[in-house]
Amino acid sequence: MSQGSDVAAGRLEPDVLAENFADIHPPLDRKTALVEASRCYFCHDAPCIEACPTGIDIPSFIRKISTDNLRGAAVDILSENIMGGACARVCPTEVLCERACVRNAQEHKPVQIGLLQRYATDDLFDRGLQPFERAAPSGRKVAVVGGGPAGLACAHRLSRLGHEVVVFEAKEKAGGLNEYGIAAYKVPDHFAQREVDFILSLGGIEVRYGQALGREFSLANLRRDYNAVFLGIGLGDVRGLGLEGEDLDGVHNAVEYIAGLRQAEDLGQLAVGRKVVVIGGGNTAIDIAVQTKRLGAEDVTIVYRRGPEAMSATHHEQDFAQTNGVKIKHWAAPVALQGANGHVTGVDFEYTQIDGDGRLTGTGEGFAVPADMVFKAVGQIMLPLPDGNGAGEILEMTGGRIAVDVDRRTSIAGVWAGGDCVPLGDDLTVSAVQDGKVAAESIDRYFRS
Ligand SMILES: Cc1cc2nc3c(=O)[nH]c(=O)nc-3n(C[C@H](O)[C@H](O)[C@H](O)COP(=O)(O)OP(=O)(O)OC[C@H]3O[C@@H](n4cnc5c(N)ncnc54)[C@H](O)[C@@H]3O)c2cc1C
Ligand code: SF4
Repeated sequence: MSQGSDVAAGRLEPDVLAENFADIHPPLDRKTALVEASRCYFCHDAPCIEACPTGIDIPSFIRKISTDNLRGAAVDILSENIMGGACARVCPTEVLCERACVRNAQEHKPVQIGLLQRYATDDLFDRGLQPFERAAPSGRKVAVVGGGPAGLACAHRLSRLGHEVVVFEAKEKAGGLNEYGIAAYKVPDHFAQREVDFILSLGGIEVRYGQALGREFSLANLRRDYNAVFLGIGLGDVRGLGLEGEDLDGVHNAVEYIAGLRQAEDLGQLAVGRKVVVIGGGNTAIDIAVQTKRLGAEDVTIVYRRGPEAMSATHHEQDFAQTNGVKIKHWAAPVALQGANGHVTGVDFEYTQIDGDGRLTGTGEGFAVPADMVFKAVGQIMLPLPDGNGAGEILEMTGGRIAVDVDRRTSIAGVWAGGDCVPLGDDLTVSAVQDGKVAAESIDRYFRS
């Protein structure tokens, strides 16, 4: 650490840290789950199903909960969304199923679908049940690149359909951002790995760790050795600010810091600044801000270049940050990073506005925010794919991601893709799972045709 910077580990006592990183949505007990289930109208043409990217039959699983048939409820959920356990914890339900719930119209209080989903899936996990079986072996073998939500959902569905699957995962653990990215208090107690184990317990899926496309093998190798390939490689890189001083000590990429936090054995060993500035307006900005505050940072400020309605973090998440003591400043963009002795000391911002042509411009006026740590959370981008993949064919891209059709087929025959690395969804776990599922069904139809 450079002289003068106030970055330190162990700002809080272990018991306070443990409390700060405990489950933010404790599970429902049986009594509250039954009361909540009884609020459902079991609507015909239920709008909540329509609003769920994976199309879970929500009234059906809630009805099963109300008769204590938790296994049946979990099967309803997991047959559409094999990561229904993670999604019950991480989905922004306030803009998905719960926003569509008809109970909003009368009482402004939707049925708590997310918590009921968790109640049903937790029970199955706690009992160590794998409710699905594999179809008779098809003799087909599929390579899945990336063991995140998209890859694992694709692998599980393919295996259920009787195909053999090999997942090539660059890291030491599977789960993707469920393991390395999502805020720690949303998925405590190693939930991501428990879910990976549950998915793999179906059988027929081999995971090869430390195997990266473009490093250990090429797409051409996979096309030669497998009957089909699915790419679920996520977004491996982050945008820079394009400002001088980004290499100062104390300036971090938020996603990398969160990955370190998620893997830390002892949060008390994690160094955090006294004054933290976060630049960005999405999930990642909220998560890094709240987590640094909960690690003991005294002063945490998110600065976003547009207004609150333009933030990709939902209002619920913005409120959550503010109730955690995080300040959010809108309509300002960073123009310079200040440093002393090689360490960041603050950020200069310029106020922004929309000009007469609808463009975002600086006003010429500004302010400075002192900082011991600065986090960049201005969006993730896809790492360039190895060129040509040795097969003389190039994957078509759209907006920096892999172009796919509705079946998640890429421009190369026999290669499908899904999750964050394709431009269809909203960069949510649930959408990645849906992509993996749709691609697996499409691969299966291709084999049978
Ligand atoms: C900080 C943060 C917080 C988030 N919070 C939420 C949230 O609360 N709720 C929510 O719904 N969504 C959230 N998201 C988004 C969500 O995590 C992603 O949309 C989802 O994980 C995408 O799944 P994926 O499988 O496409 O990609 P990833 O989860 O990124 O998985 C990709 C996998 O591919 C592997 N891989 C990459 N390149 C290669 C290669 N060349 N060869 C082999 N393997 C490779 C990676 O190691 C990884 O395991 C968050 C994202 C971030 C960054
Ligand atoms: S919209 Fe609400 S009340 Fe209707 S089925 Fe869905 S959860 Fe139940």
